Parts: sequence; structure tokens; C-alpha cells
Amino acid sequence: MGETLFNKIIRREIPADIVFEDAEVLAFRDINPQAPVHVLFIPKKKAFATLNDVGAADAELIGRLFLAATAWAKDKGLADDGYRLVMNCNAHGGQTVFHIHLHLLAGRQMHWPPG
Ligand code: AMP
Repeated sequence: MGETLFNKIIRREIPADIVFEDAEVLAFRDINPQAPVHVLFIPKKKAFATLNDVGAADAELIGRLFLAATAWAKDKGLADDGYRLVMNCNAHGGQTVFHIHLHLLAGRQMHWPPG
């Protein structure tokens, strides 16, 4: 995968409002939030352009993204009211940054279908 904006955030070459980091996952606030809480969780050590590039060997890493997001939501008191986790893939999914990321949206009522 080529260089992306999110690689630069991982390397602290461009600023981001980082809210969580461990050995595998970095999380930072979305620059254009779609909800009162909008955080992106990304893998740090291995990047994939889209979900189509994820294989069976990456199952644990993808699981870690979800576990980091749900743990953060619980820690911030968001779990009971609820939240939405989303990964967009390619054009029809609305993906704009080609470095997979898990959106955590919370703090307002979500609707379905998302439009
Ligand atoms: P997606 O459309 O699913 O690829 O999501 C990409 C997200 O990255 C969008 O919600 C953007 O607002 C967000 N974004 C783009 N650049 C930055 C940045 N420098 N810092 C934080 N979020 C960003």
C-alpha cells in the first residue's frame, strides 16, 4: 500500500487529536465529524488500502480494531446509549482515505438506512 495521510498521522508528521493508542491501534478524532463523537481507529503496523485487501491472516488485527473501539466507547460512557461502527469500502461505500479505518460515531440518534 502506498503512503497515506493516516501513515503521516501514525508517524506524527501531521497533527491529529489522538484519543487512544496501543501497540496495534491508533485512534484520533475525525477532522470533519458527523456526530458529537466521531473517532477513527486504524491499524498501526500493517495498513490495507481497503477491506478487500484484508485476508484471513489479518483476522486478529481487524478484531483488535473493533475491541479497541468498543473498549473506548465503554470507557467514555457511550456504551449504554449506543454508537455505530462503520468501515467504508471503495466508491459505493463512500471511502475517501485508502488506509482502512473504523469509524466510531456516537452522541446522537443514528438512522437506518444511512443514506
Ligand atoms: P472514509 O470516507 O470512510 O474514507 O473516511 C475518511 C475520514 O477521514 C473522513 O471522515 C474524513 O473526515 C477523515 N479525515 C480526513 N483527513 C483527516 C485528518 N487529517 N484527520 C482526521 N480525520 C481526517
